[in-house]
Amino acid sequence: MGKKDFFDDEDKNRIQAEYDSLVNNLLRCNNPEDRELIERAFNTANEAHWNMRRKSGEPYIIHPIAVAKIVNQEIGLGARSIAAALLHDVVEDTDYTLEDIERKFNPRIASLIDGLTKISVTYNKPSSSSMQAENFRKMLLTLSDDMRVILIKIADRLHNMRTLNSMPEHKKMKIAGETIFLYAPLAQRLGLFSIKSELEDLSFKFRQPQIYEELASLLKHSEKKYYAVINKFSLPIIDKLTSAGYNFDINGRPKSLYSIWKKMQSKAVPFEEIYDVLAVRIVFDPVPEISEKTQCWNIYSMITDTYLPKPDRLRDWISRPKPNGYEALHLTVMGPDGKWVEVQIRSRRMDEVAERGYAAHWKYKGDTSRETELDKWIKKIRVMLENPLEDPIEFLDEFKMNLFSSEIMVFTPKGSLVSLPKGASALDFAYEIHSEIGNKAIGAKINYKLLPLNTTLMSGDQVEIITSDIARPEKDWLSWVRTTRAKESIKDALKTETINRIQKGIEMLEAKLSELEVIPNAEVLKKLMTAYNVSNKDELYSGIELGLINLDNLKRILRKTESRSIIKYWNFKFIGTKKETETAVQVPEKIDNSTPFLLREDVTSAAQSYEIADCCKPIPGDDVTGYRSPEGSIIIHKPTCPTAIRLSSNEGNRIVAVKWAIHKFVSFLARISVAGIDRIGLVNDISNIISYELSVNMTNINFSVTKGIFEGTIDLYVHHTKDLNNLILKISNVKGIESVKRVEDFS
Ligand code: MN
Repeated sequence: MGKKDFFDDEDKNRIQAEYDSLVNNLLRCNNPEDRELIERAFNTANEAHWNMRRKSGEPYIIHPIAVAKIVNQEIGLGARSIAAALLHDVVEDTDYTLEDIERKFNPRIASLIDGLTKISVTYNKPSSSSMQAENFRKMLLTLSDDMRVILIKIADRLHNMRTLNSMPEHKKMKIAGETIFLYAPLAQRLGLFSIKSELEDLSFKFRQPQIYEELASLLKHSEKKYYAVINKFSLPIIDKLTSAGYNFDINGRPKSLYSIWKKMQSKAVPFEEIYDVLAVRIVFDPVPEISEKTQCWNIYSMITDTYLPKPDRLRDWISRPKPNGYEALHLTVMGPDGKWVEVQIRSRRMDEVAERGYAAHWKYKGDTSRETELDKWIKKIRVMLENPLEDPIEFLDEFKMNLFSSEIMVFTPKGSLVSLPKGASALDFAYEIHSEIGNKAIGAKINYKLLPLNTTLMSGDQVEIITSDIARPEKDWLSWVRTTRAKESIKDALKTETINRIQKGIEMLEAKLSELEVIPNAEVLKKLMTAYNVSNKDELYSGIELGLINLDNLKRILRKTESRSIIKYWNFKFIGTKKETETAVQVPEKIDNSTPFLLREDVTSAAQSYEIADCCKPIPGDDVTGYRSPEGSIIIHKPTCPTAIRLSSNEGNRIVAVKWAIHKFVSFLARISVAGIDRIGLVNDISNIISYELSVNMTNINFSVTKGIFEGTIDLYVHHTKDLNNLILKISNVKGIESVKRVEDFS
């Protein structure tokens, strides 16, 4: 070719040698098409990167070849991914375009390269912390398209870490930091266990070189002794397994430096103590006909015939694999010199899943139809990625939270598994199920025992959330939860709560003032704020709504400017988890038609001295009229209700004036009817609106479709007509809905 050639023979030989070592050690990929694809990808990449060198001085193509090797030999991916790895820097760093790739190869490879290229492009933008988060988010978004993009990206990062030495110092730190912060946990979450360890160790080496060197030399010194003990321990086991006809490997498990360092830190113990924990791994080829699980337990029993097991150290990851798909049986036994030895038992398949994770997991997927925890995680991540949080930093936090495999698995009352981060509380669980269950939670039954919401859950717990319509989130709750999901929901609910409370306080005050024929102006408000000892209007309004400020003496306050009385009364609340429940038994007010009977909602049913009429079911905000029954309780009707009309004409002396003292405590049943033109997804759209409407709780839904016309009724618990009107408005905006109205007649 006409290009000037900057590569000498040494360079060319090096390239050829690296490429040969890739193709001569391929895992699978043995058919001619695979070979041809890989060769074509190499030729294209080699030509594109010709004369380019890495920072280290070696020909650039060495890097893509190395990434391709990792992709195949360490992650276990096939020919297409190898080709994509070989080509991964071509579009970004050379004149080649995606169209060229698509033409020369195929759309699927082009789309892999596209995923990898977008990432690289975003990476070159100036870096601020949120920029970095944004970049990572963009990269993760490709996860919802094709998992292989992430796997190739991890391979790319691994090779960059292996060759990090040639980078300038400040870049080393940045790359090593990013690696420990994101890539290592990501690799771990995808089950790429050995890659995760290597990424951690490499990052550790660059970030804390002195400690790293010190530990490395300690490890070297104790290695001989270590293997001597392991060998002594292994001999009798090798004997037994061999005579039982097993084909197996037994190894002393080398510990990564970083994991030793982490343990030294967290347990505050010296190197020797960590290193003294001996560990052995047995990987066996299962014999046919017997399940792998049974064989693991057989081997377990052969080991415990020789060595005494430590009963509390048995870990069965076979019956219930770890969330990242890990399966194995772990036990700790008393070794020959009175030392504890941890033994891991895995089948060949389990070992491959443990070492190669995701890819191996898919390779064996045909074996089993059940959805593994990894599948579930990937689903969850996909949902998260498809609806990413606006703020990239929050997104990253949530993602990281979801990455760590330090998870606990708890059960719902019906036996489904829910995974939560370690340290999660019953309240986290409630929000994990649904934000409305969280918002209405008052307590939890954990393993049938009633416990507070801030109880920390343990793996295996069965959790049932007790809810109440009168419950609402409190500020304290924020310190009880660990998941972003719960935190966000609580913040949202508190925000809505405050706005609603202030609005209601305004309404209550204005109503009271208008009774007194006082116009609410700045002077009046100032007077009230002084009298009730509050510093701002919001505090005044929410105090009124909460009942902390009693408006009964409003008249006197407005008359007597000097008086500075603070009158508080205790508000009965079901939800005061820590507070004393000071019951304010309602004093039956004299029935007097001149002042309306106040319908407080914050009373227990026992103390409740009024009833909602079954015939018209008024809810707070409705115009209402009261009827004093011969038994003494007051029955609340709508003035338009036929029964009420009949009563007022027949028993006018029993009619009492009533009005709502509005509190968002108790819900009321209302029914709406909906009609429209049926389409796919209509019911779903409606129920979505209802379930996201915070102050509404659907109890019954009844739909029918005849000849494309859709009709139905929905029964719901609402707090106030405003909530109901709001809901009706929202539903009427749904495509296809022709009419929505409140049903007045319940019969
Ligand atoms: Mn690269």
